[in-house]
Amino acid sequence: MQFSDEGLTTDQKALVQSVRALCAKYPESYWRQTDADGAYPEAFINALTEGGFLSALIPEQYGGLGLGVMEGGLILEEINRSGGNAGACHAQMYIMGTVLRHGSPEQKEAYLPEIATGKMRLQAFGVTEPDAGSDTTSISTRAERKGTKYIVNGRKVFISRVMESDLMLLLCRTTPKEKCAKRTDGLSVLLVDLRRAKGNGLDVRPLDLMVNHHSNELTFENLEVPTENLIGEEGAGFKYILSSMNAERILVASDSIGDGRYFVEKSVNYANERKVFGKPIGQNQGVQYPIARAYAAVEAARLMRDKAAQMFDAGQNPGEQANLAKFLGAEAAWQAANVCMDTHGGYGYAVEYNVERKFRESRLYMIAPVTNNLVLSYIGQNVLGLPRS
Ligand SMILES: Cc1cc2nc3c(=O)[nH]c(=O)nc-3n(C[C@H](O)[C@H](O)[C@H](O)COP(=O)(O)OP(=O)(O)OC[C@H]3O[C@@H](n4cnc5c(N)ncnc54)[C@H](O)[C@@H]3O)c2cc1C
Repeated sequence: MQFSDEGLTTDQKALVQSVRALCAKYPESYWRQTDADGAYPEAFINALTEGGFLSALIPEQYGGLGLGVMEGGLILEEINRSGGNAGACHAQMYIMGTVLRHGSPEQKEAYLPEIATGKMRLQAFGVTEPDAGSDTTSISTRAERKGTKYIVNGRKVFISRVMESDLMLLLCRTTPKEKCAKRTDGLSVLLVDLRRAKGNGLDVRPLDLMVNHHSNELTFENLEVPTENLIGEEGAGFKYILSSMNAERILVASDSIGDGRYFVEKSVNYANERKVFGKPIGQNQGVQYPIARAYAAVEAARLMRDKAAQMFDAGQNPGEQANLAKFLGAEAAWQAANVCMDTHGGYGYAVEYNVERKFRESRLYMIAPVTNNLVLSYIGQNVLGLPRS
């Protein structure tokens, strides 16, 4: 089966085709092996970087492709649709926006061209803490200014790709919460040079998780970060993180839509091939209708993603649409994942069929980078005008 690319421009269709051609060199056996080894898909990420795809959102003046979030989303979607795992690289696309929008001209000159060429990787984003969880404004990792340095102490958890990145965007507290007028005050964003930090005030402990996501627990003990690595103004960090959230939601929705399309395609193919009781299992409505339902959910989520991305790229503030796209995308992918499992019967559990790997990978987007409950809270409070929970 072929999914419709209706609504895409000629350039966008060409972009999808070139990502598809690259992904074809990294078949599912590659991803299965990477998953089994718990390895980072180094060769794939290098090829993606060399092809310029990971610099899609970096402006041309810094050596990137200067494309929009819509194109960034199409790249991630196609990686997942092809059976890969865009989670290994998606963060660079949305983290980079914080540097681009709020970094100084010197910081942009210093980092963006190197990120665009792949000489430097900015794939790590340190927000989550064990005692704060979804309540980001309660984070306590402290950065104290001493002369020309910040001294960082605290803990983070689930921080992905720290070992595979050169740089990490770190959200930390520069003013104690009790001294802040508002709960969103007193947080700052630092760009941490991981090459210097690891072993010099930053301890990294890899976590054993259900997916191959290279996530870690971080302990900061008097880590020194030059004050010139502060992004924007001290104390305004939460605002900067918020300003990147629409792009993050749209890009993560794209991961999910790619997963959803993968599962639908896989289900259709298998339901056509597999014969039981003398006929293809897809002839049974009990098999066919769930696939059709999943298809409807995935394609509807895609429409919302398209709308959110188009608004974002037109300079609007699509808070509602980006959150709806993230929510609908994650739910649709998970629906399609379950349908694909059911369609495959026992073979869904067989590692060589890849369904169980993608099943685990797609489930993540119900939880990270933000849980669907928190997205519903956003919709309830900011769109529907319901009281804050
Ligand atoms: C594989 C993986 C990779 C990750 N990578 C990163 C990373 O690179 N960087 C990073 O900073 N973080 C990362 N995370 C962390 C992720 O963003 C968090 O797990 C997520 O934001 C939820 O936080 P929590 O796990 O502490 O859950 P909690 O906040 O403890 O929430 C637990 C449950 O309670 C619900 N809940 C809590 N409060 C409310 C409320 N007020 N209303 C309704 N429901 C509520 C949540 O929705 C959730 O279902 C990663 C996580 C995973 C699993």
